[in-house]
Amino acid sequence: MAALQRRRLLGVSGLSRTVRALSGMGCPLGSGLAEAAPPPKAPGEDLPSPSHDPHGKNEYDLLVIGGGSGGLACAKEAAQFGRQVAVLDYVEPSPQGTKWGLGGTCVNVGCIPKKLMHQAALLGSALKDAQHYGWNIAQPVHHTWSVMAQAVQNYVKSLNWGHRVQLQDKKVKYFNMKGSFSDPHTVRGLTKGGKETIVTAENIVIATGGRPKYPMHIAGALEYGITSDDLFWLKESPGKTLVVGASYVSLECAGFLTGIGLDTTVMMRSIPLRGFDQQMASLVTEHMESYGTKFLKRCFPTKVEKLESNRLQVTWKNTDLGTEETDSFDTVLWAVGRAPDTETLNLETVGVKTNSETGKIIVDASEATSVPHIYAVGDITEGRPELTPTAIAAGKLLAQRLFGQSSELMDYDNVPTTVFTPLEYGCVGLSEEAAVQCYGSDNIEVYHAYYKPLEFTVAERDATQCYVKMVCLRERAQRILGLHFIGPNAGEVIQGFALGIKCGATYPQLMKTVGIHPTCAEEITKLHITKRSGLDATVTGC
Ligand code: FAD
Ligand code: NDP
Repeated sequence: MAALQRRRLLGVSGLSRTVRALSGMGCPLGSGLAEAAPPPKAPGEDLPSPSHDPHGKNEYDLLVIGGGSGGLACAKEAAQFGRQVAVLDYVEPSPQGTKWGLGGTCVNVGCIPKKLMHQAALLGSALKDAQHYGWNIAQPVHHTWSVMAQAVQNYVKSLNWGHRVQLQDKKVKYFNMKGSFSDPHTVRGLTKGGKETIVTAENIVIATGGRPKYPMHIAGALEYGITSDDLFWLKESPGKTLVVGASYVSLECAGFLTGIGLDTTVMMRSIPLRGFDQQMASLVTEHMESYGTKFLKRCFPTKVEKLESNRLQVTWKNTDLGTEETDSFDTVLWAVGRAPDTETLNLETVGVKTNSETGKIIVDASEATSVPHIYAVGDITEGRPELTPTAIAAGKLLAQRLFGQSSELMDYDNVPTTVFTPLEYGCVGLSEEAAVQCYGSDNIEVYHAYYKPLEFTVAERDATQCYVKMVCLRERAQRILGLHFIGPNAGEVIQGFALGIKCGATYPQLMKTVGIHPTCAEEITKLHITKRSGLDATVTGC
């Protein structure tokens, strides 16, 4: 843990360098199996520790270190080819002592609990709308954190169980152990209790992901703050919360905390959603402000202290005003980026090269590291999107190349993604800024529209930030370079259009696409106002 914390301590002062690649949504397993029976024994638990014979055959065809989105997908796919496969997965408890089961970040402390808590917040808004639609809802309506948290945690535990069952069904050996390299074909696994197992393999895949960073230069940050590794496992409400950071994790968490009725403040040192289209990012934060989230803009924290009342007093600098300000909170949530834990893997011993600044593993297009037969996929790799679907796809394709007849490489272009803020933002392809930078503003046509979702009308909801924008090349074919959508169910809307854009869709083709009425997605098929024209882009009528 010390090494991980050293990594988390590094790199928090500069601007974060997250690759803003674009994603889809969803996790592989939704079995919903109940955790009624005790989990099956990890196959490795019953085995004697195998010894490494450097002249003999390695014990496994494939060993995967890290049982998250990428690692599990790779292991399961490799097992389909009848290969001997093992997975090592170990969760180092967070500095606050939170721990969880098999499945990695997405399942336990990422996409899944986040989306479910986002849903809890959306239901709160739906309750308000419902009254306009004739429902009598006894007032005041309030939300109970512990009920939501318990339900979400139970579901996550069922996914942990499901992953273990799947590994067993596919005859993948699972070791609940922390892995580190002893030599290029040998990994040393250590259990929580310090029991050692040596595993040897022909091919090794590193899929150990990342963990949240702590800004260690801020006094009290580690002692009193929590991260997304803790938030989803809190038994009691976090209460009045300060969320530091302004990217995916920060805005999504601040969004659902506000939505369930908590006093929530986002502290943003620079811009929101770095790497995303900045017009869209501004609309996202503008909507969050109207929704009740407070923003401390161009501010950065300098210390956190515990008051006698047990509240946390945070001091920060306001760079616009040049002032020092304070306020007290029940919870401080650091959402200042994520860091890989490559140090504990002992990569130097075997010669796997990492980026000295980010600590991430350098891979080529085939996910190969600098050492033949050692590969890496997912968040641990340099320059890749930090998203579940890309980790899964990369892991599967790698297994197919290693053990099937495939030569197909993962294509990281036009990966769609959605930010699950109260009003969701989904996108695929280039931002307007990136398109202008690549092709020049004279060669870009931007079609846009401000629209009102039908459901908002009766509910008297403000739709000021419901906006869609399509960035095209200006030449005759008008190939679509990027699509950006803010509105309800943005992930669902963008997922389908992502196929078209992946296939090279053009603006004229989109205009020939018949909309589904009445939906928000149909607004995309009706885009006709260019930004260049300066005409009012507000949609009126059907
Ligand atoms: P992980 O899933 O992190 O798995 C790595 C595993 O390796 C972990 O279980 C870890 O404990 C284990 N491990 C580490 N070191 C060792 C070792 N030495 N030995 C053995 N095991 C080890 N992505 C989306 O696409 N959509 C979303 O909505 C989304 N929401 C997110 C919300 C939050 C709050 C966060 C933090 C992330 C979110 N992500 C989302 C990102 C997504 O969760 C990650 O991109 C994805 O989980 C990465 O998968 P991975 O396989 O690379 O690593
Ligand atoms: P990011 O690296 O994207 O963002 C970090 C944020 O913290 C930035 O706003 C950054 O500001 C700010 N920051 C960094 N250091 C400090 C500091 N010392 N003080 C104050 N602010 C600071 O990290 P996230 O954790 O938000 O996301 C990690 C990745 O996880 C994402 O890139 C995404 O791929 C994945 N993810 C995906 C989701 C989805 O698909 N819906 C949801 C959540 C995560 P600045 O811009 O100034 O550097």
